[in-house]
Amino acid sequence: MTKAAPAAFADTHQTETSPKVSDEVRKTTCYMCACRCGIDVHLRDGKIRYIEGNRDHPVNRGVLCAKGSAGIMQHYSPARLQKPLLRTGPRGAGEFREIEWEEALQIAVSWLEPLRESSPEKLAFFTGRDQSQSLTGWWAQQFGTPNYAAHGGFCSVNMATAGIYTIGGSFWEFGQPDWERTKYFMIFGVAEDHDSNPIKLGMSRLKERGAKIVGVNPVRTGYNAIADEWVGITPGTDGLFILSLIHELLRAGKVDVDYLLRYTNAAQLVIDAPGTAEHGLIARNNDGEMLVWDRHADREASYKSVSTGAALKGRFTLGDGRAAVPVFEHLARAYSDERYAPDAVAEETGVSADTIRRIAAELANAAFNQAIEIECSWTDWRGEEHDKFIGRPVSFHAMRGISAHSNGFQTCRALHVLQILLGSIDCPGGFRYKPPYPKPSYAHPKPHAGVTPDQPLGGPHLGYLHGPDDLLLDTEGRAKRIDKGFTWDAPMSAHGVLHMVISNAVAGDPYEIDTLFLFMANMSWNSSMNTRGVMKMLEAKRDDGEYRIPHIIYSDAYASEMVAYADLVLPDTTYLERHDAISLLDRPICEPDAVADAIRWPVVEPDREVRGFQSVLLDLGARLRLPGMVNQQGDPLYKDYADYLVNHQRKPGVGPLAGFRGAQGDRGGRGDPNPQQLQQYIDNGGYWTEHVPPNAAFFKMANQDYQDWAVAKGFYDAPEPCIFNLYLEPLRKFQLAAEGHGERQPPEHLRERVRDCFTPLPHWYPPFEGAGIDVSDYPYHAITQRPAAMYHSWGSQNAWLRQIHGDNPMYVPGPVCDAAGLVDGDWAWISSYHGKICVPVRRMHAVNDKTLWTWNAIGKRKGAWNLSPDAPEAKRGFLLNHLINELLPPKGDGQRYSNSDPITGQAAWYDLRVKIEKAEQPFEQSQPTFEAQQNPLPPAPDDVEYGKEWQK
Ligand code: SF4
Repeated sequence: MTKAAPAAFADTHQTETSPKVSDEVRKTTCYMCACRCGIDVHLRDGKIRYIEGNRDHPVNRGVLCAKGSAGIMQHYSPARLQKPLLRTGPRGAGEFREIEWEEALQIAVSWLEPLRESSPEKLAFFTGRDQSQSLTGWWAQQFGTPNYAAHGGFCSVNMATAGIYTIGGSFWEFGQPDWERTKYFMIFGVAEDHDSNPIKLGMSRLKERGAKIVGVNPVRTGYNAIADEWVGITPGTDGLFILSLIHELLRAGKVDVDYLLRYTNAAQLVIDAPGTAEHGLIARNNDGEMLVWDRHADREASYKSVSTGAALKGRFTLGDGRAAVPVFEHLARAYSDERYAPDAVAEETGVSADTIRRIAAELANAAFNQAIEIECSWTDWRGEEHDKFIGRPVSFHAMRGISAHSNGFQTCRALHVLQILLGSIDCPGGFRYKPPYPKPSYAHPKPHAGVTPDQPLGGPHLGYLHGPDDLLLDTEGRAKRIDKGFTWDAPMSAHGVLHMVISNAVAGDPYEIDTLFLFMANMSWNSSMNTRGVMKMLEAKRDDGEYRIPHIIYSDAYASEMVAYADLVLPDTTYLERHDAISLLDRPICEPDAVADAIRWPVVEPDREVRGFQSVLLDLGARLRLPGMVNQQGDPLYKDYADYLVNHQRKPGVGPLAGFRGAQGDRGGRGDPNPQQLQQYIDNGGYWTEHVPPNAAFFKMANQDYQDWAVAKGFYDAPEPCIFNLYLEPLRKFQLAAEGHGERQPPEHLRERVRDCFTPLPHWYPPFEGAGIDVSDYPYHAITQRPAAMYHSWGSQNAWLRQIHGDNPMYVPGPVCDAAGLVDGDWAWISSYHGKICVPVRRMHAVNDKTLWTWNAIGKRKGAWNLSPDAPEAKRGFLLNHLINELLPPKGDGQRYSNSDPITGQAAWYDLRVKIEKAEQPFEQSQPTFEAQQNPLPPAPDDVEYGKEWQK
């Protein structure tokens, strides 16, 4: 149901007794983190006076966090860039001269145009926490370079990819717990800034309703501190813990058999022909449909025609004489193995066997003894009629903590397998999809990388491949992408591998590039492993004196550490000064019961010579005459990003914004462009929403009513029912190649790794860094958490938020302090196989006893972000990144392997192993230190307060 548009902006949220703080309220979308809450921006005399939550907004319903309210200080930050900059000194020094926009754009075009005409792959265009990927990706596609991705490869791609491949969705943007009905909630590896307000709202509902919350995290802060039970797991062992829970459920017979038969590939038949090229693949009929064994007819049948009548156990002989075994038989055998028994995993995980057994029993009790039934008629995709939705009120949420490991993909898959066995996906009380999900992996595009000068790429850069034939390799077996995404190094790298771009480009492996174009990615500081090494790479020169990466263009709103390494800086606006779309084509703001999207719009006009990056990109695209950005006469098709948002159509009737479409603005999903669309969003509070029909609310993966509604709304062109992949056949195809089958096989040095890690049923293996060193030399794990009040480096230059976290000690477990002779306030050397830092120490007990940790991205380089050289962030703040290498320790075989998950290429930040030693004396400054960058901005004032006259 579409919300009625209010007649005008009205200050409706002030009680009569509140002092009036504003003369106007403008409603837009927060961008102080990635949650996209609705905000009311109060203005007085044209200046921002106050920000509060929008109480009507579907994401936050009025709740605002510390970051959101501190948006004022982000907007008026002294670190804001003022005007385009052209480098005048050596890279890294921060010496620039200001130039006009026209000159800046001409310089950019002079670098980019020759590349497009001759070798588009020599442009590498990568973005950070970009909320406009449907534009940036499309732009790169039209340019014709294969080298595009956002930051997902070093964030949480394991979580996203494991989810799409297994259940056609994933946590956070594509689904969430049924907060109103769940009775048992487990949260794994979630930093408290993540999905911040929605999770806080959800957990408060669980508390109100008396549901049990179990936090699984090495550190007990944030969500884990308010959980009813904290499981202080050892980093990198979540997969082992989850598979042990599965072991217990199988032992007790507590799995949802009806659910497995209807909605998963549990009954599909796996060919049993050892040594052949089809061993382990799913048996199919001549139409390519997967086969199951029909128990009643005692013969094979298509999975489409048999659901609850299929066999889950046994070994069968197919009509053509081949032997085959149901997936569930494999699964039951694998996880019944004693290696996953609670007693066998307790020491490795740091979780007692009794705790594992109890949690498994509690999960089963909530799922099966407290089941929910909602009466409702619905039809599944097989045409079977149902008269109710059966709910298993157990739900989970997980993020980077379980994902940023070299075993993260299989761990994330294991968690989804646990959900599936409990029958708790998209049912009342379980994890629920948000439209436009679910969307199975085969309904997503495959990745593209075929380069033709002066032509667009043949399709999107990123996607989901299904076996070795889809790898992006040239005829010589070399990577087509600069980050080596979608190669044997990282076959399922659905978000790209941003953390390898700079090192590969500098090494000229697989080839050299000319221009690195980055948007809000602080790669010379907190967004890189081996930070010092990356700085050197950005400064590295060839024998002829030219930089190894000849041109670097960087766009950001702030003078981050990366600005000093750019040759050309294109200053972006703040989030309150530009248009944006929180688009269904990207990562929307939907709820399980409603489709929704939102906009940002300039609630204040820029007071500097800055331009919204997306408008600049469209301008560059028009100057380069990229298809879709110019008309037949070569004139720009779009005046700016706002014009694009309204008029661009990805396919007929489907554009960046789904709301208020059609000539009258009364269509949702599909519809013609509407010239009044943005104003209608503004009038509606900055967002649009429409409810999912009640009989389409659950079991969306199989619910024909949902599928039909999704097609009508333009999410899919045809129904896309999603069968859950307990057994992931594409992984078996990679394994078969490693076993010597097929034309495309992995290089020798990767053969063993592919064979061992790419199991089609998730399994646990030790994280690579620990396996490659003598862990007795580095007995502890070290990880970072993001605090509730900061989002990466964005917040640690914000005048209000800096008062909450101005520096970051290393938190050390009490027993480790005692063993090292450390007390609060001491300094300690923390060493990994790769590097050494010296930092202040604080004792802590609410942490896994083998784990040190600190807050992420508080430390700043001197001179950056227009902070004083004496700022605590630049003196006592530090980065753990200095200890982490983008490559694993040498194995002695002449190869260096990337410090990543072998399946997706996800950066394995949390595999880090360290030792700790007390420093002889305290330091003035955390170590290592770096030469100060020159500040390209006017000096910051001592006091950023404003509006004193309003207080009179
Ligand atoms: S959680 Fe906070 S910072 Fe993030 S979008 Fe919402 S209000 Fe903004």
